[in-house]
Amino acid sequence: MEVEERQQAWKKKFYLELPKVELHAHLNGSMSSKTMRKLIAKKPDLKINDQMTVIDKGKKRTLVECFQMFQLIHQLTTSPEDILMVTKDVIKEFADDGVKYLELRSTPRRENATGMTKRTYVESILEGIKQAKEENLDIDVRYLIAIDRRGGPLVAKETVKLAKEFFLSSEETVLGLDLSGDPTAGQAKDFLEPLLEAKKAGLKLALHLSEIPCQKKETQMFLDLLPDRIGHGTFFKSSEEGSLDLVDFVRQHRIPLEFCLTSNIKSQTVPSYDQHHFGYWYSIAHPSVICTDDKGVFATSLSQEYQLAAETFNLTQSQVWDLSYESINYIFASDSTRSELRKKWNHLKPKVLHF
Ligand SMILES: [Zn+2]
Repeated sequence: MEVEERQQAWKKKFYLELPKVELHAHLNGSMSSKTMRKLIAKKPDLKINDQMTVIDKGKKRTLVECFQMFQLIHQLTTSPEDILMVTKDVIKEFADDGVKYLELRSTPRRENATGMTKRTYVESILEGIKQAKEENLDIDVRYLIAIDRRGGPLVAKETVKLAKEFFLSSEETVLGLDLSGDPTAGQAKDFLEPLLEAKKAGLKLALHLSEIPCQKKETQMFLDLLPDRIGHGTFFKSSEEGSLDLVDFVRQHRIPLEFCLTSNIKSQTVPSYDQHHFGYWYSIAHPSVICTDDKGVFATSLSQEYQLAAETFNLTQSQVWDLSYESINYIFASDSTRSELRKKWNHLKPKVLHF
């Protein structure tokens, strides 16, 4: 027993010390219970408790229930001060988990009650990133402005305008756009034009695609934009007729995929870890990145996600190392940041792999 415990502790240490890149993390869903409790204490009238916003080990929810949880969390983050605090806490937690480069994503939100505007929302996140930098945390943080599908085409256009502005003024902190939210809301054609406009302006695109089955047509429309990364892609490889075309397209263009194992299991879009589509894409050496999605809601960490992927698909330590090292290729920041990160990884390699 003692040997096993020691082995478990050693493994945990390896995944924690492994330098990591996190490319798919929604700010509000990444909030820990600790931060949640601080917000709840500020808003006791809401009668929300921290158990309502987290899915514990072994528990599951439907995707619809997950989106309801996010709405609950949004009721807790209503002022620029809330957003600043959440941003700082989330960055600190990722840094403590050995994440060296983080791209946070979040939809700018207006709240009439507090006077928060979409602009002050974005500014609060940028301020949080700036303060983390001033504290010399060992993590490089960037921001992808998110378009929530529920907002429809007009809001999407507004968001792109805001993103273009901050892309120019934020000194390489705002790097791109995310498309997310309830996958049944809206249609692809509502978002193609604004996304194309963003792409032309130099913003990178990370799109949630094929999170639910039977979306082949809309997925192909989004793929034709040649997004820079894809979130989930759970049903590319479904039995739906002709869906192999999607797989071929993504393979041909080598569009990197962001995989969030626990998120997909707990929201029940994938039946079990061993059936997760990461297994397929990894086996054909397709650009693959392990991510958390919403570490708070799904009660996970990036270290834990790496361990799960490794143990489910029998990866060796050196394969785990490569998986993390290659993720650097798929970040949205510039080549000079990539070189910096590679240097950092190479420096840490002997220590982490115990050569
Ligand atoms: Zn996501």
